[in-house]
Amino acid sequence: MMPAFFLETEVLYMKAEIIAVGTELLLGDITNTNARYLSEQLAGLGIEVYFESVVGDNKERLLGAFKDGFTRADIIITTGGLGPTDDDITKETGAEYFGRELVLDESSLNNIKSYFKGREMSKTNIKQAYVPKDSTVLKNEKGTAPGIIIEENGKVLVMLPGPPNEMEPMFNNSVKPYLQGREKHTICSRTLRLTGIGESSAAEVIRELMANSTNPTVAPYAKDDGVHFRITARGKDVEECNKLIEPVAVEIYSKLGEYIYGENETTLARAVVNMLMEKNITLAVAESLTGGMLCSRIVDIEGVSKIFKEGFVTYTNESKANTLGVSKDTLKNYGAISRETAGEMAKGAALRAGAELGISTTGIAGGGAVKNPTPNNEDISYDKPEGRVYLGLYYKGNIATKELNIKGDRQRVRNTAVVRMLDFVRQNIKDTPRE
Ligand code: ATP
Repeated sequence: MMPAFFLETEVLYMKAEIIAVGTELLLGDITNTNARYLSEQLAGLGIEVYFESVVGDNKERLLGAFKDGFTRADIIITTGGLGPTDDDITKETGAEYFGRELVLDESSLNNIKSYFKGREMSKTNIKQAYVPKDSTVLKNEKGTAPGIIIEENGKVLVMLPGPPNEMEPMFNNSVKPYLQGREKHTICSRTLRLTGIGESSAAEVIRELMANSTNPTVAPYAKDDGVHFRITARGKDVEECNKLIEPVAVEIYSKLGEYIYGENETTLARAVVNMLMEKNITLAVAESLTGGMLCSRIVDIEGVSKIFKEGFVTYTNESKANTLGVSKDTLKNYGAISRETAGEMAKGAALRAGAELGISTTGIAGGGAVKNPTPNNEDISYDKPEGRVYLGLYYKGNIATKELNIKGDRQRVRNTAVVRMLDFVRQNIKDTPRE
């Protein structure tokens, strides 16, 4: 058995910096989403990032950024500037920094040729097959520019292409395993996914735990569907990491368990669909303001045909009445955007589709000039504020509804309505025994 301090003294903490290269970024033409992606990934690997910068397509300034960066960090990761044109200078600058010449890499040339198969390849693309001597070349599965790693005296320069759809798989498939291999210890993380509670409220509940934990660390991430807590441990192997993570996870479950719907890659839709499949509960969906988004999230999950029967997009009052059987009196007395209508929509969907569970959304997404799409039937709903949403749920003869007041623009209101509806299902069905 190792003495307890061994782990602390032996852990190799790597420091990294991210440099996004591109004048477009400085001009504000594109958003630096690459830096965000890389920061999150590096944090997950337990690699500290203290600096991030953006540098235009200029060799002198990029050289300066490399010089400064390597006084602080062991690893610099760049994105962008690997393209075929003259203003793409990252690779040349990296080679110059390490005093390496550029040599032709046959495998990259073949990759570029096969990328252009059947189409004309520009001569300038051949430039992309030149790489700094003695570097590691990372295959680009989605484009032409290979990624490059240059390593010298403990300093590592990782150069990745700019387009996120090329950069992200390259990071994930090649750079991540490379960085994990450099760590003396294994790094593991476990992500607990919460919904129905905001980031700050959730963080407040476990503030002390977060502040006092160093191995594992606990970090919150605000996401569209709620908040994720990532617990990251360093240990000599996976087993040791898991031993470190387990008690922290147990503590978070004990404090916030009611909000935790899943772990790691499990989306809210997947958690809900899995729960319905396990309990063998069939589902029908009626949507107004979400216009099919809820169904789409549900149908994203493979195997859902076992339980998903039918979806209805009923936007007008006529459609709610004719397709789902919402009573005209309800629409007249309470309006299309009301608890009563949401409840009848859910029930109507379930009965018409022959499903055990019916769910519904109705509300004002906002942002539109038309306040009343059905002016002739004097709908009173349109006095309601933008962002007012009602969720309906019908199960075994009972109706449950929920009123929400969602802040934000039209898309945010609609997205949040979907998330909250999925969570409403989870809350209502989770204690239902298996059929
Ligand atoms: P290519 O081989 O396609 O020319 P590249 O490596 O030279 O790629 P750039 O030319 O710098 O990359 O950028 C290409 C595109 O990638 C940009 O127009 C932009 O859409 C996207 N991109 C570049 N940098 C970033 C960034 N930091 N964040 C998000 N997107 C980026």
